[in-house]
Amino acid sequence: MPRKIAAGNWKMNGTAADLDQIKALASAHPSPSVEILICPPATLVAHMADAAGPIKVGGQDCHAEPSGAHTGDIAAPMLAAAGATAVIVGHSERRTDHAETDAIVQAKARAAHAAGLTAVICIGETLQEREAGTTLSVIDTQLSGSVPEGASDSNTVIAYEPLWAIGTGKVPTLDQIAEVHAHIRAKHTDLAILYGGSVKGSNATEIFGVPHVNGALVGGASLKANDFSPIVTALE
Ligand code: PGA
Repeated sequence: MPRKIAAGNWKMNGTAADLDQIKALASAHPSPSVEILICPPATLVAHMADAAGPIKVGGQDCHAEPSGAHTGDIAAPMLAAAGATAVIVGHSERRTDHAETDAIVQAKARAAHAAGLTAVICIGETLQEREAGTTLSVIDTQLSGSVPEGASDSNTVIAYEPLWAIGTGKVPTLDQIAEVHAHIRAKHTDLAILYGGSVKGSNATEIFGVPHVNGALVGGASLKANDFSPIVTALE
């Protein structure tokens, strides 16, 4: 069985003042039966790792190279040294805002593996692609282009995030989630597959009931412990 993960992506939110949220989450789940992973901005990774107790901490992106002349970028070994155990790669906001291709995402996932980090590889279709009926072929292209050789449950997680569901409050039907997760599962039998896009406490239980959903990647509802804790409990 793949691992179960309740993952939070703080995106470009949070300063040291918000570490109270991680302390509250840790005290609400002192010995969680599922993995809890929070990915804050890079500025907070080390601070959060110190305060997180049983909660794991991850980065939101890494460079494909381990060091070098890349102003403003963060390398995977730096995240690992700061206490991260994972890093998100290929989030749709990176793919869109920074023109990241599948090949770049795959190189970043390899860099994560080389640094001993779990790569949380994000994939998902746009609304136009869904309406054109090409969702599964888009998913196939992203999977074959982004997931590196040697991916296993110990170093790789797939996050299926339909772009039209991210930050919009729109969630696919459970049948739509089931179809894509089953499609991914047929290709990656042992990897955890997270659903992402407008997950909150009130819809988590039904989403986690969908076959081959092994957890969630949560944006907005991961910022406050009171919002995220019910999602963790729904997965446990
Ligand atoms: P959301 O974001 O939960 O705010 O929709 C999900 C994500 O982008 O990972």
